Order: sequence, then structure tokens, then C-alpha cells
Amino acid sequence: RERAREILSSVKGRDDTRLGVEAMDLLDAYGIETPQGDIVDAPADALEVAEGIESDVVMKIVSPDILHKSDIGGVKVGVPNEEVYDAYEDLVTRARNYQPDANIIGVQVQEMVDLDAGVETIVGMNKDPQFGPLLMFGLGGIFVEVLEDTTFRVAPVSESEAAEMTEEIDSAPLLRGARGRDPVDVEGVSETIQRLSQLVTDFPAILELDINPLVAAPDGVKAVDVRLTVD
Ligand code: ADP
Ligand code: MG
Repeated sequence: RERAREILSSVKGRDDTRLGVEAMDLLDAYGIETPQGDIVDAPADALEVAEGIESDVVMKIVSPDILHKSDIGGVKVGVPNEEVYDAYEDLVTRARNYQPDANIIGVQVQEMVDLDAGVETIVGMNKDPQFGPLLMFGLGGIFVEVLEDTTFRVAPVSESEAAEMTEEIDSAPLLRGARGRDPVDVEGVSETIQRLSQLVTDFPAILELDINPLVAAPDGVKAVDVRLTVD
């Protein structure tokens, strides 16, 4: 809580209120697991981070001006160490081509999360003018727009409400292990919903927050991408 306060006060008054670097730290402070990795602003530093990660890595452009990174080719999955330098330069070039005056903070280097073993979900918060902070849970990944399989609760969300949310989406059977797949850590998912609910309740300055995807795997959940807006 104290750490979250520090993180949020450090961005208060900053022109650009969409957090990049700080968003992952904020989740971390509330006990929501994020992939191993870091955000760096030089290729050599990217390589150093990659060398500290056992798997190949994922590299992503970090810029407040680029909200949908993969739309501009700003996400590279499965990068081996020997390609980290080139990948870094390429990501920055793509961002510049997209928007020449984009504010580029750097590149995020992450461990690869095994998407095949898990289910991509979304947990988010939006402020409803009438009800205040509204928590959303749903199926994520490539089907999200097609299926629109989501459910909502007003924050703060209780333990049983969070559990209900994981049970009532149409794709709930996917979480529970359809077609011979292992069930994912559903309890971890509902815990994440509650922790997020706690975070946005503690800090009304957070106007909007989206974890997309929250990868739910049999051995736990990880927030792979997060976007947030503060007052
Ligand atoms: P954006 O939503 O801005 O395009 P994401 O960080 O969500 O960027 O990355 C896009 C997609 O790339 C994710 O939805 C996921 O499928 C994949 N991806 C991102 N990070 C990882 C990771 N660490 N491990 C495995 N796949 C990833
Ligand atoms: Mg995303």
C-alpha cells in the first residue's frame, strides 16, 4: 500500500497520465504476479535483462503514445539473446515510423509466458458515472471482440462476488479445463480480481485500468500487459 502510494504520487502531475513503467510495479505492490523482466532505454541494457531470463524473451515498445503495441508491430515474441540488439532498434524504428514525435520511454523485456498452457483473460476497471469503479472480468486474447464474454461488479468486490465472476462468463468451462486440458488456477484469477478491486478502491485517482492479458495457467496467473490512466 505504501509502495503503491509512492508510485502513484511520483506520476501525479505528470503531463502524461498513462503509466508505462510504473503500472507493473503497482500490480506487484498489490501482490499480482507479473512476468520477470524490466523496462530499459538502451539495447545493451535490454541484452543484460534478457541474459538474466532463462527463456527467450518478449520485447515491447513502451510509449504513452502507443496504446496498442501489437498493432504497430511493437511486440516481438520469442526473441533469442543474439537478436535482442536488432529487435530493440527495430521496435524503436517502428514506433518512429508510426509517429515521428512519439515519446519513447524504452523497451520492455519480459520472460515468455506459456500461453498454450493457459487461458488469456482480461481484468479491468472503468469508472461508471453512477456506480463508481466497475470491475470487469472476461475472456481475453484474439477472441475478445468477437465473443464479448464479460461480466461486471461494482468495487469493492467481495470474495464470493469475485468467484461468481469467474463462474458466470460463457467461457467458464475453458477455465475449468475443457477438452482434457488441465484446469487453470481459478482461485488465483478471483484473487486477482479482488486485489485489483482493493487497488482501485484505495486509489480513486486511478481512472481506468486494464490487465490484458491476464494469463491464467494451471500453476498460477500472470499479468502480462497492463494499461492505466490516473487523474
Ligand atoms: P498490446 O496489447 O499493447 O498489443 P501486449 O503486451 O498485450 O501488447 O502483447 C500482445 C500479445 O502478445 C498478448 O496479448 C500476448 O498474446 C502476447 N504476449 C505479450 N507478452 C507476452 C509474454 N510475456 N509471453 C507470451 N506472450 C506474450
Ligand atoms: Mg495487451
